[in-house]
Amino acid sequence: MQNERILVVEDEEDIRELIAYHLRREGYEVLQAHNGLDALSLIKEKNPDLVLLDLMLPGMDGIEICRRMKQDPLTRDVCIIMVTAKEEESDQVLGLGLGADDYVTKPFRPRALMARVEAVLRRGKLNKDHAASEDVLEHGPLEINREGHEVYAEGRLVPLTATEFKLLHFLASHPGRVFSRGQLLSRVIKDALVTERNIDVHIRSIRKKLGKHRELIQTVRGVGYKMVASP
Ligand code: CA
Repeated sequence: MQNERILVVEDEEDIRELIAYHLRREGYEVLQAHNGLDALSLIKEKNPDLVLLDLMLPGMDGIEICRRMKQDPLTRDVCIIMVTAKEEESDQVLGLGLGADDYVTKPFRPRALMARVEAVLRRGKLNKDHAASEDVLEHGPLEINREGHEVYAEGRLVPLTATEFKLLHFLASHPGRVFSRGQLLSRVIKDALVTERNIDVHIRSIRKKLGKHRELIQTVRGVGYKMVASP
């Protein structure tokens, strides 16, 4: 089981380090950013499971980061906990309906923050990844058997390689969600020798083998790939 990856966006170094320390102690992989632009590029590049987002930041504030994350199909589903300096700010942020998963007010007790982090991640998992844990995943005309590493299209076995299977299973486990080539590399392939170009080759091969069901995997121009249940 891969450790969940959390990005801490906070311009005050002491607070950032403190949060990072506690997160690491809980076993999370921690990324850090001290301004909005760095945060946005890290989010796209590293695809964290959760972002702890400080509201007041130099350059671009937390509200704008949140807004941009929700507009981008690549980052829309990343969990967000907003961190605000005052209770009133939390109320205001809440009123904006930005889609953050939770809110924390400074100063906070580290243990309480860890509990919120755990709760948000657990909820996010229930919502998004429940399909990934099923032994047999049904996706439109496909039946994807995780145990046996087999895929059937309308009962016919689709002969995939191990890498192709991993890619197909991952995409089908997140129906409708777009992943960039870089994200597929870091989340599915995890092999330093494989390049983004190879992803295209694998996808092309999967499509060929799917035959008339090839359209289940869709190319999102300039972004990456997603899987739909019916084209
Ligand atoms: Ca701040």
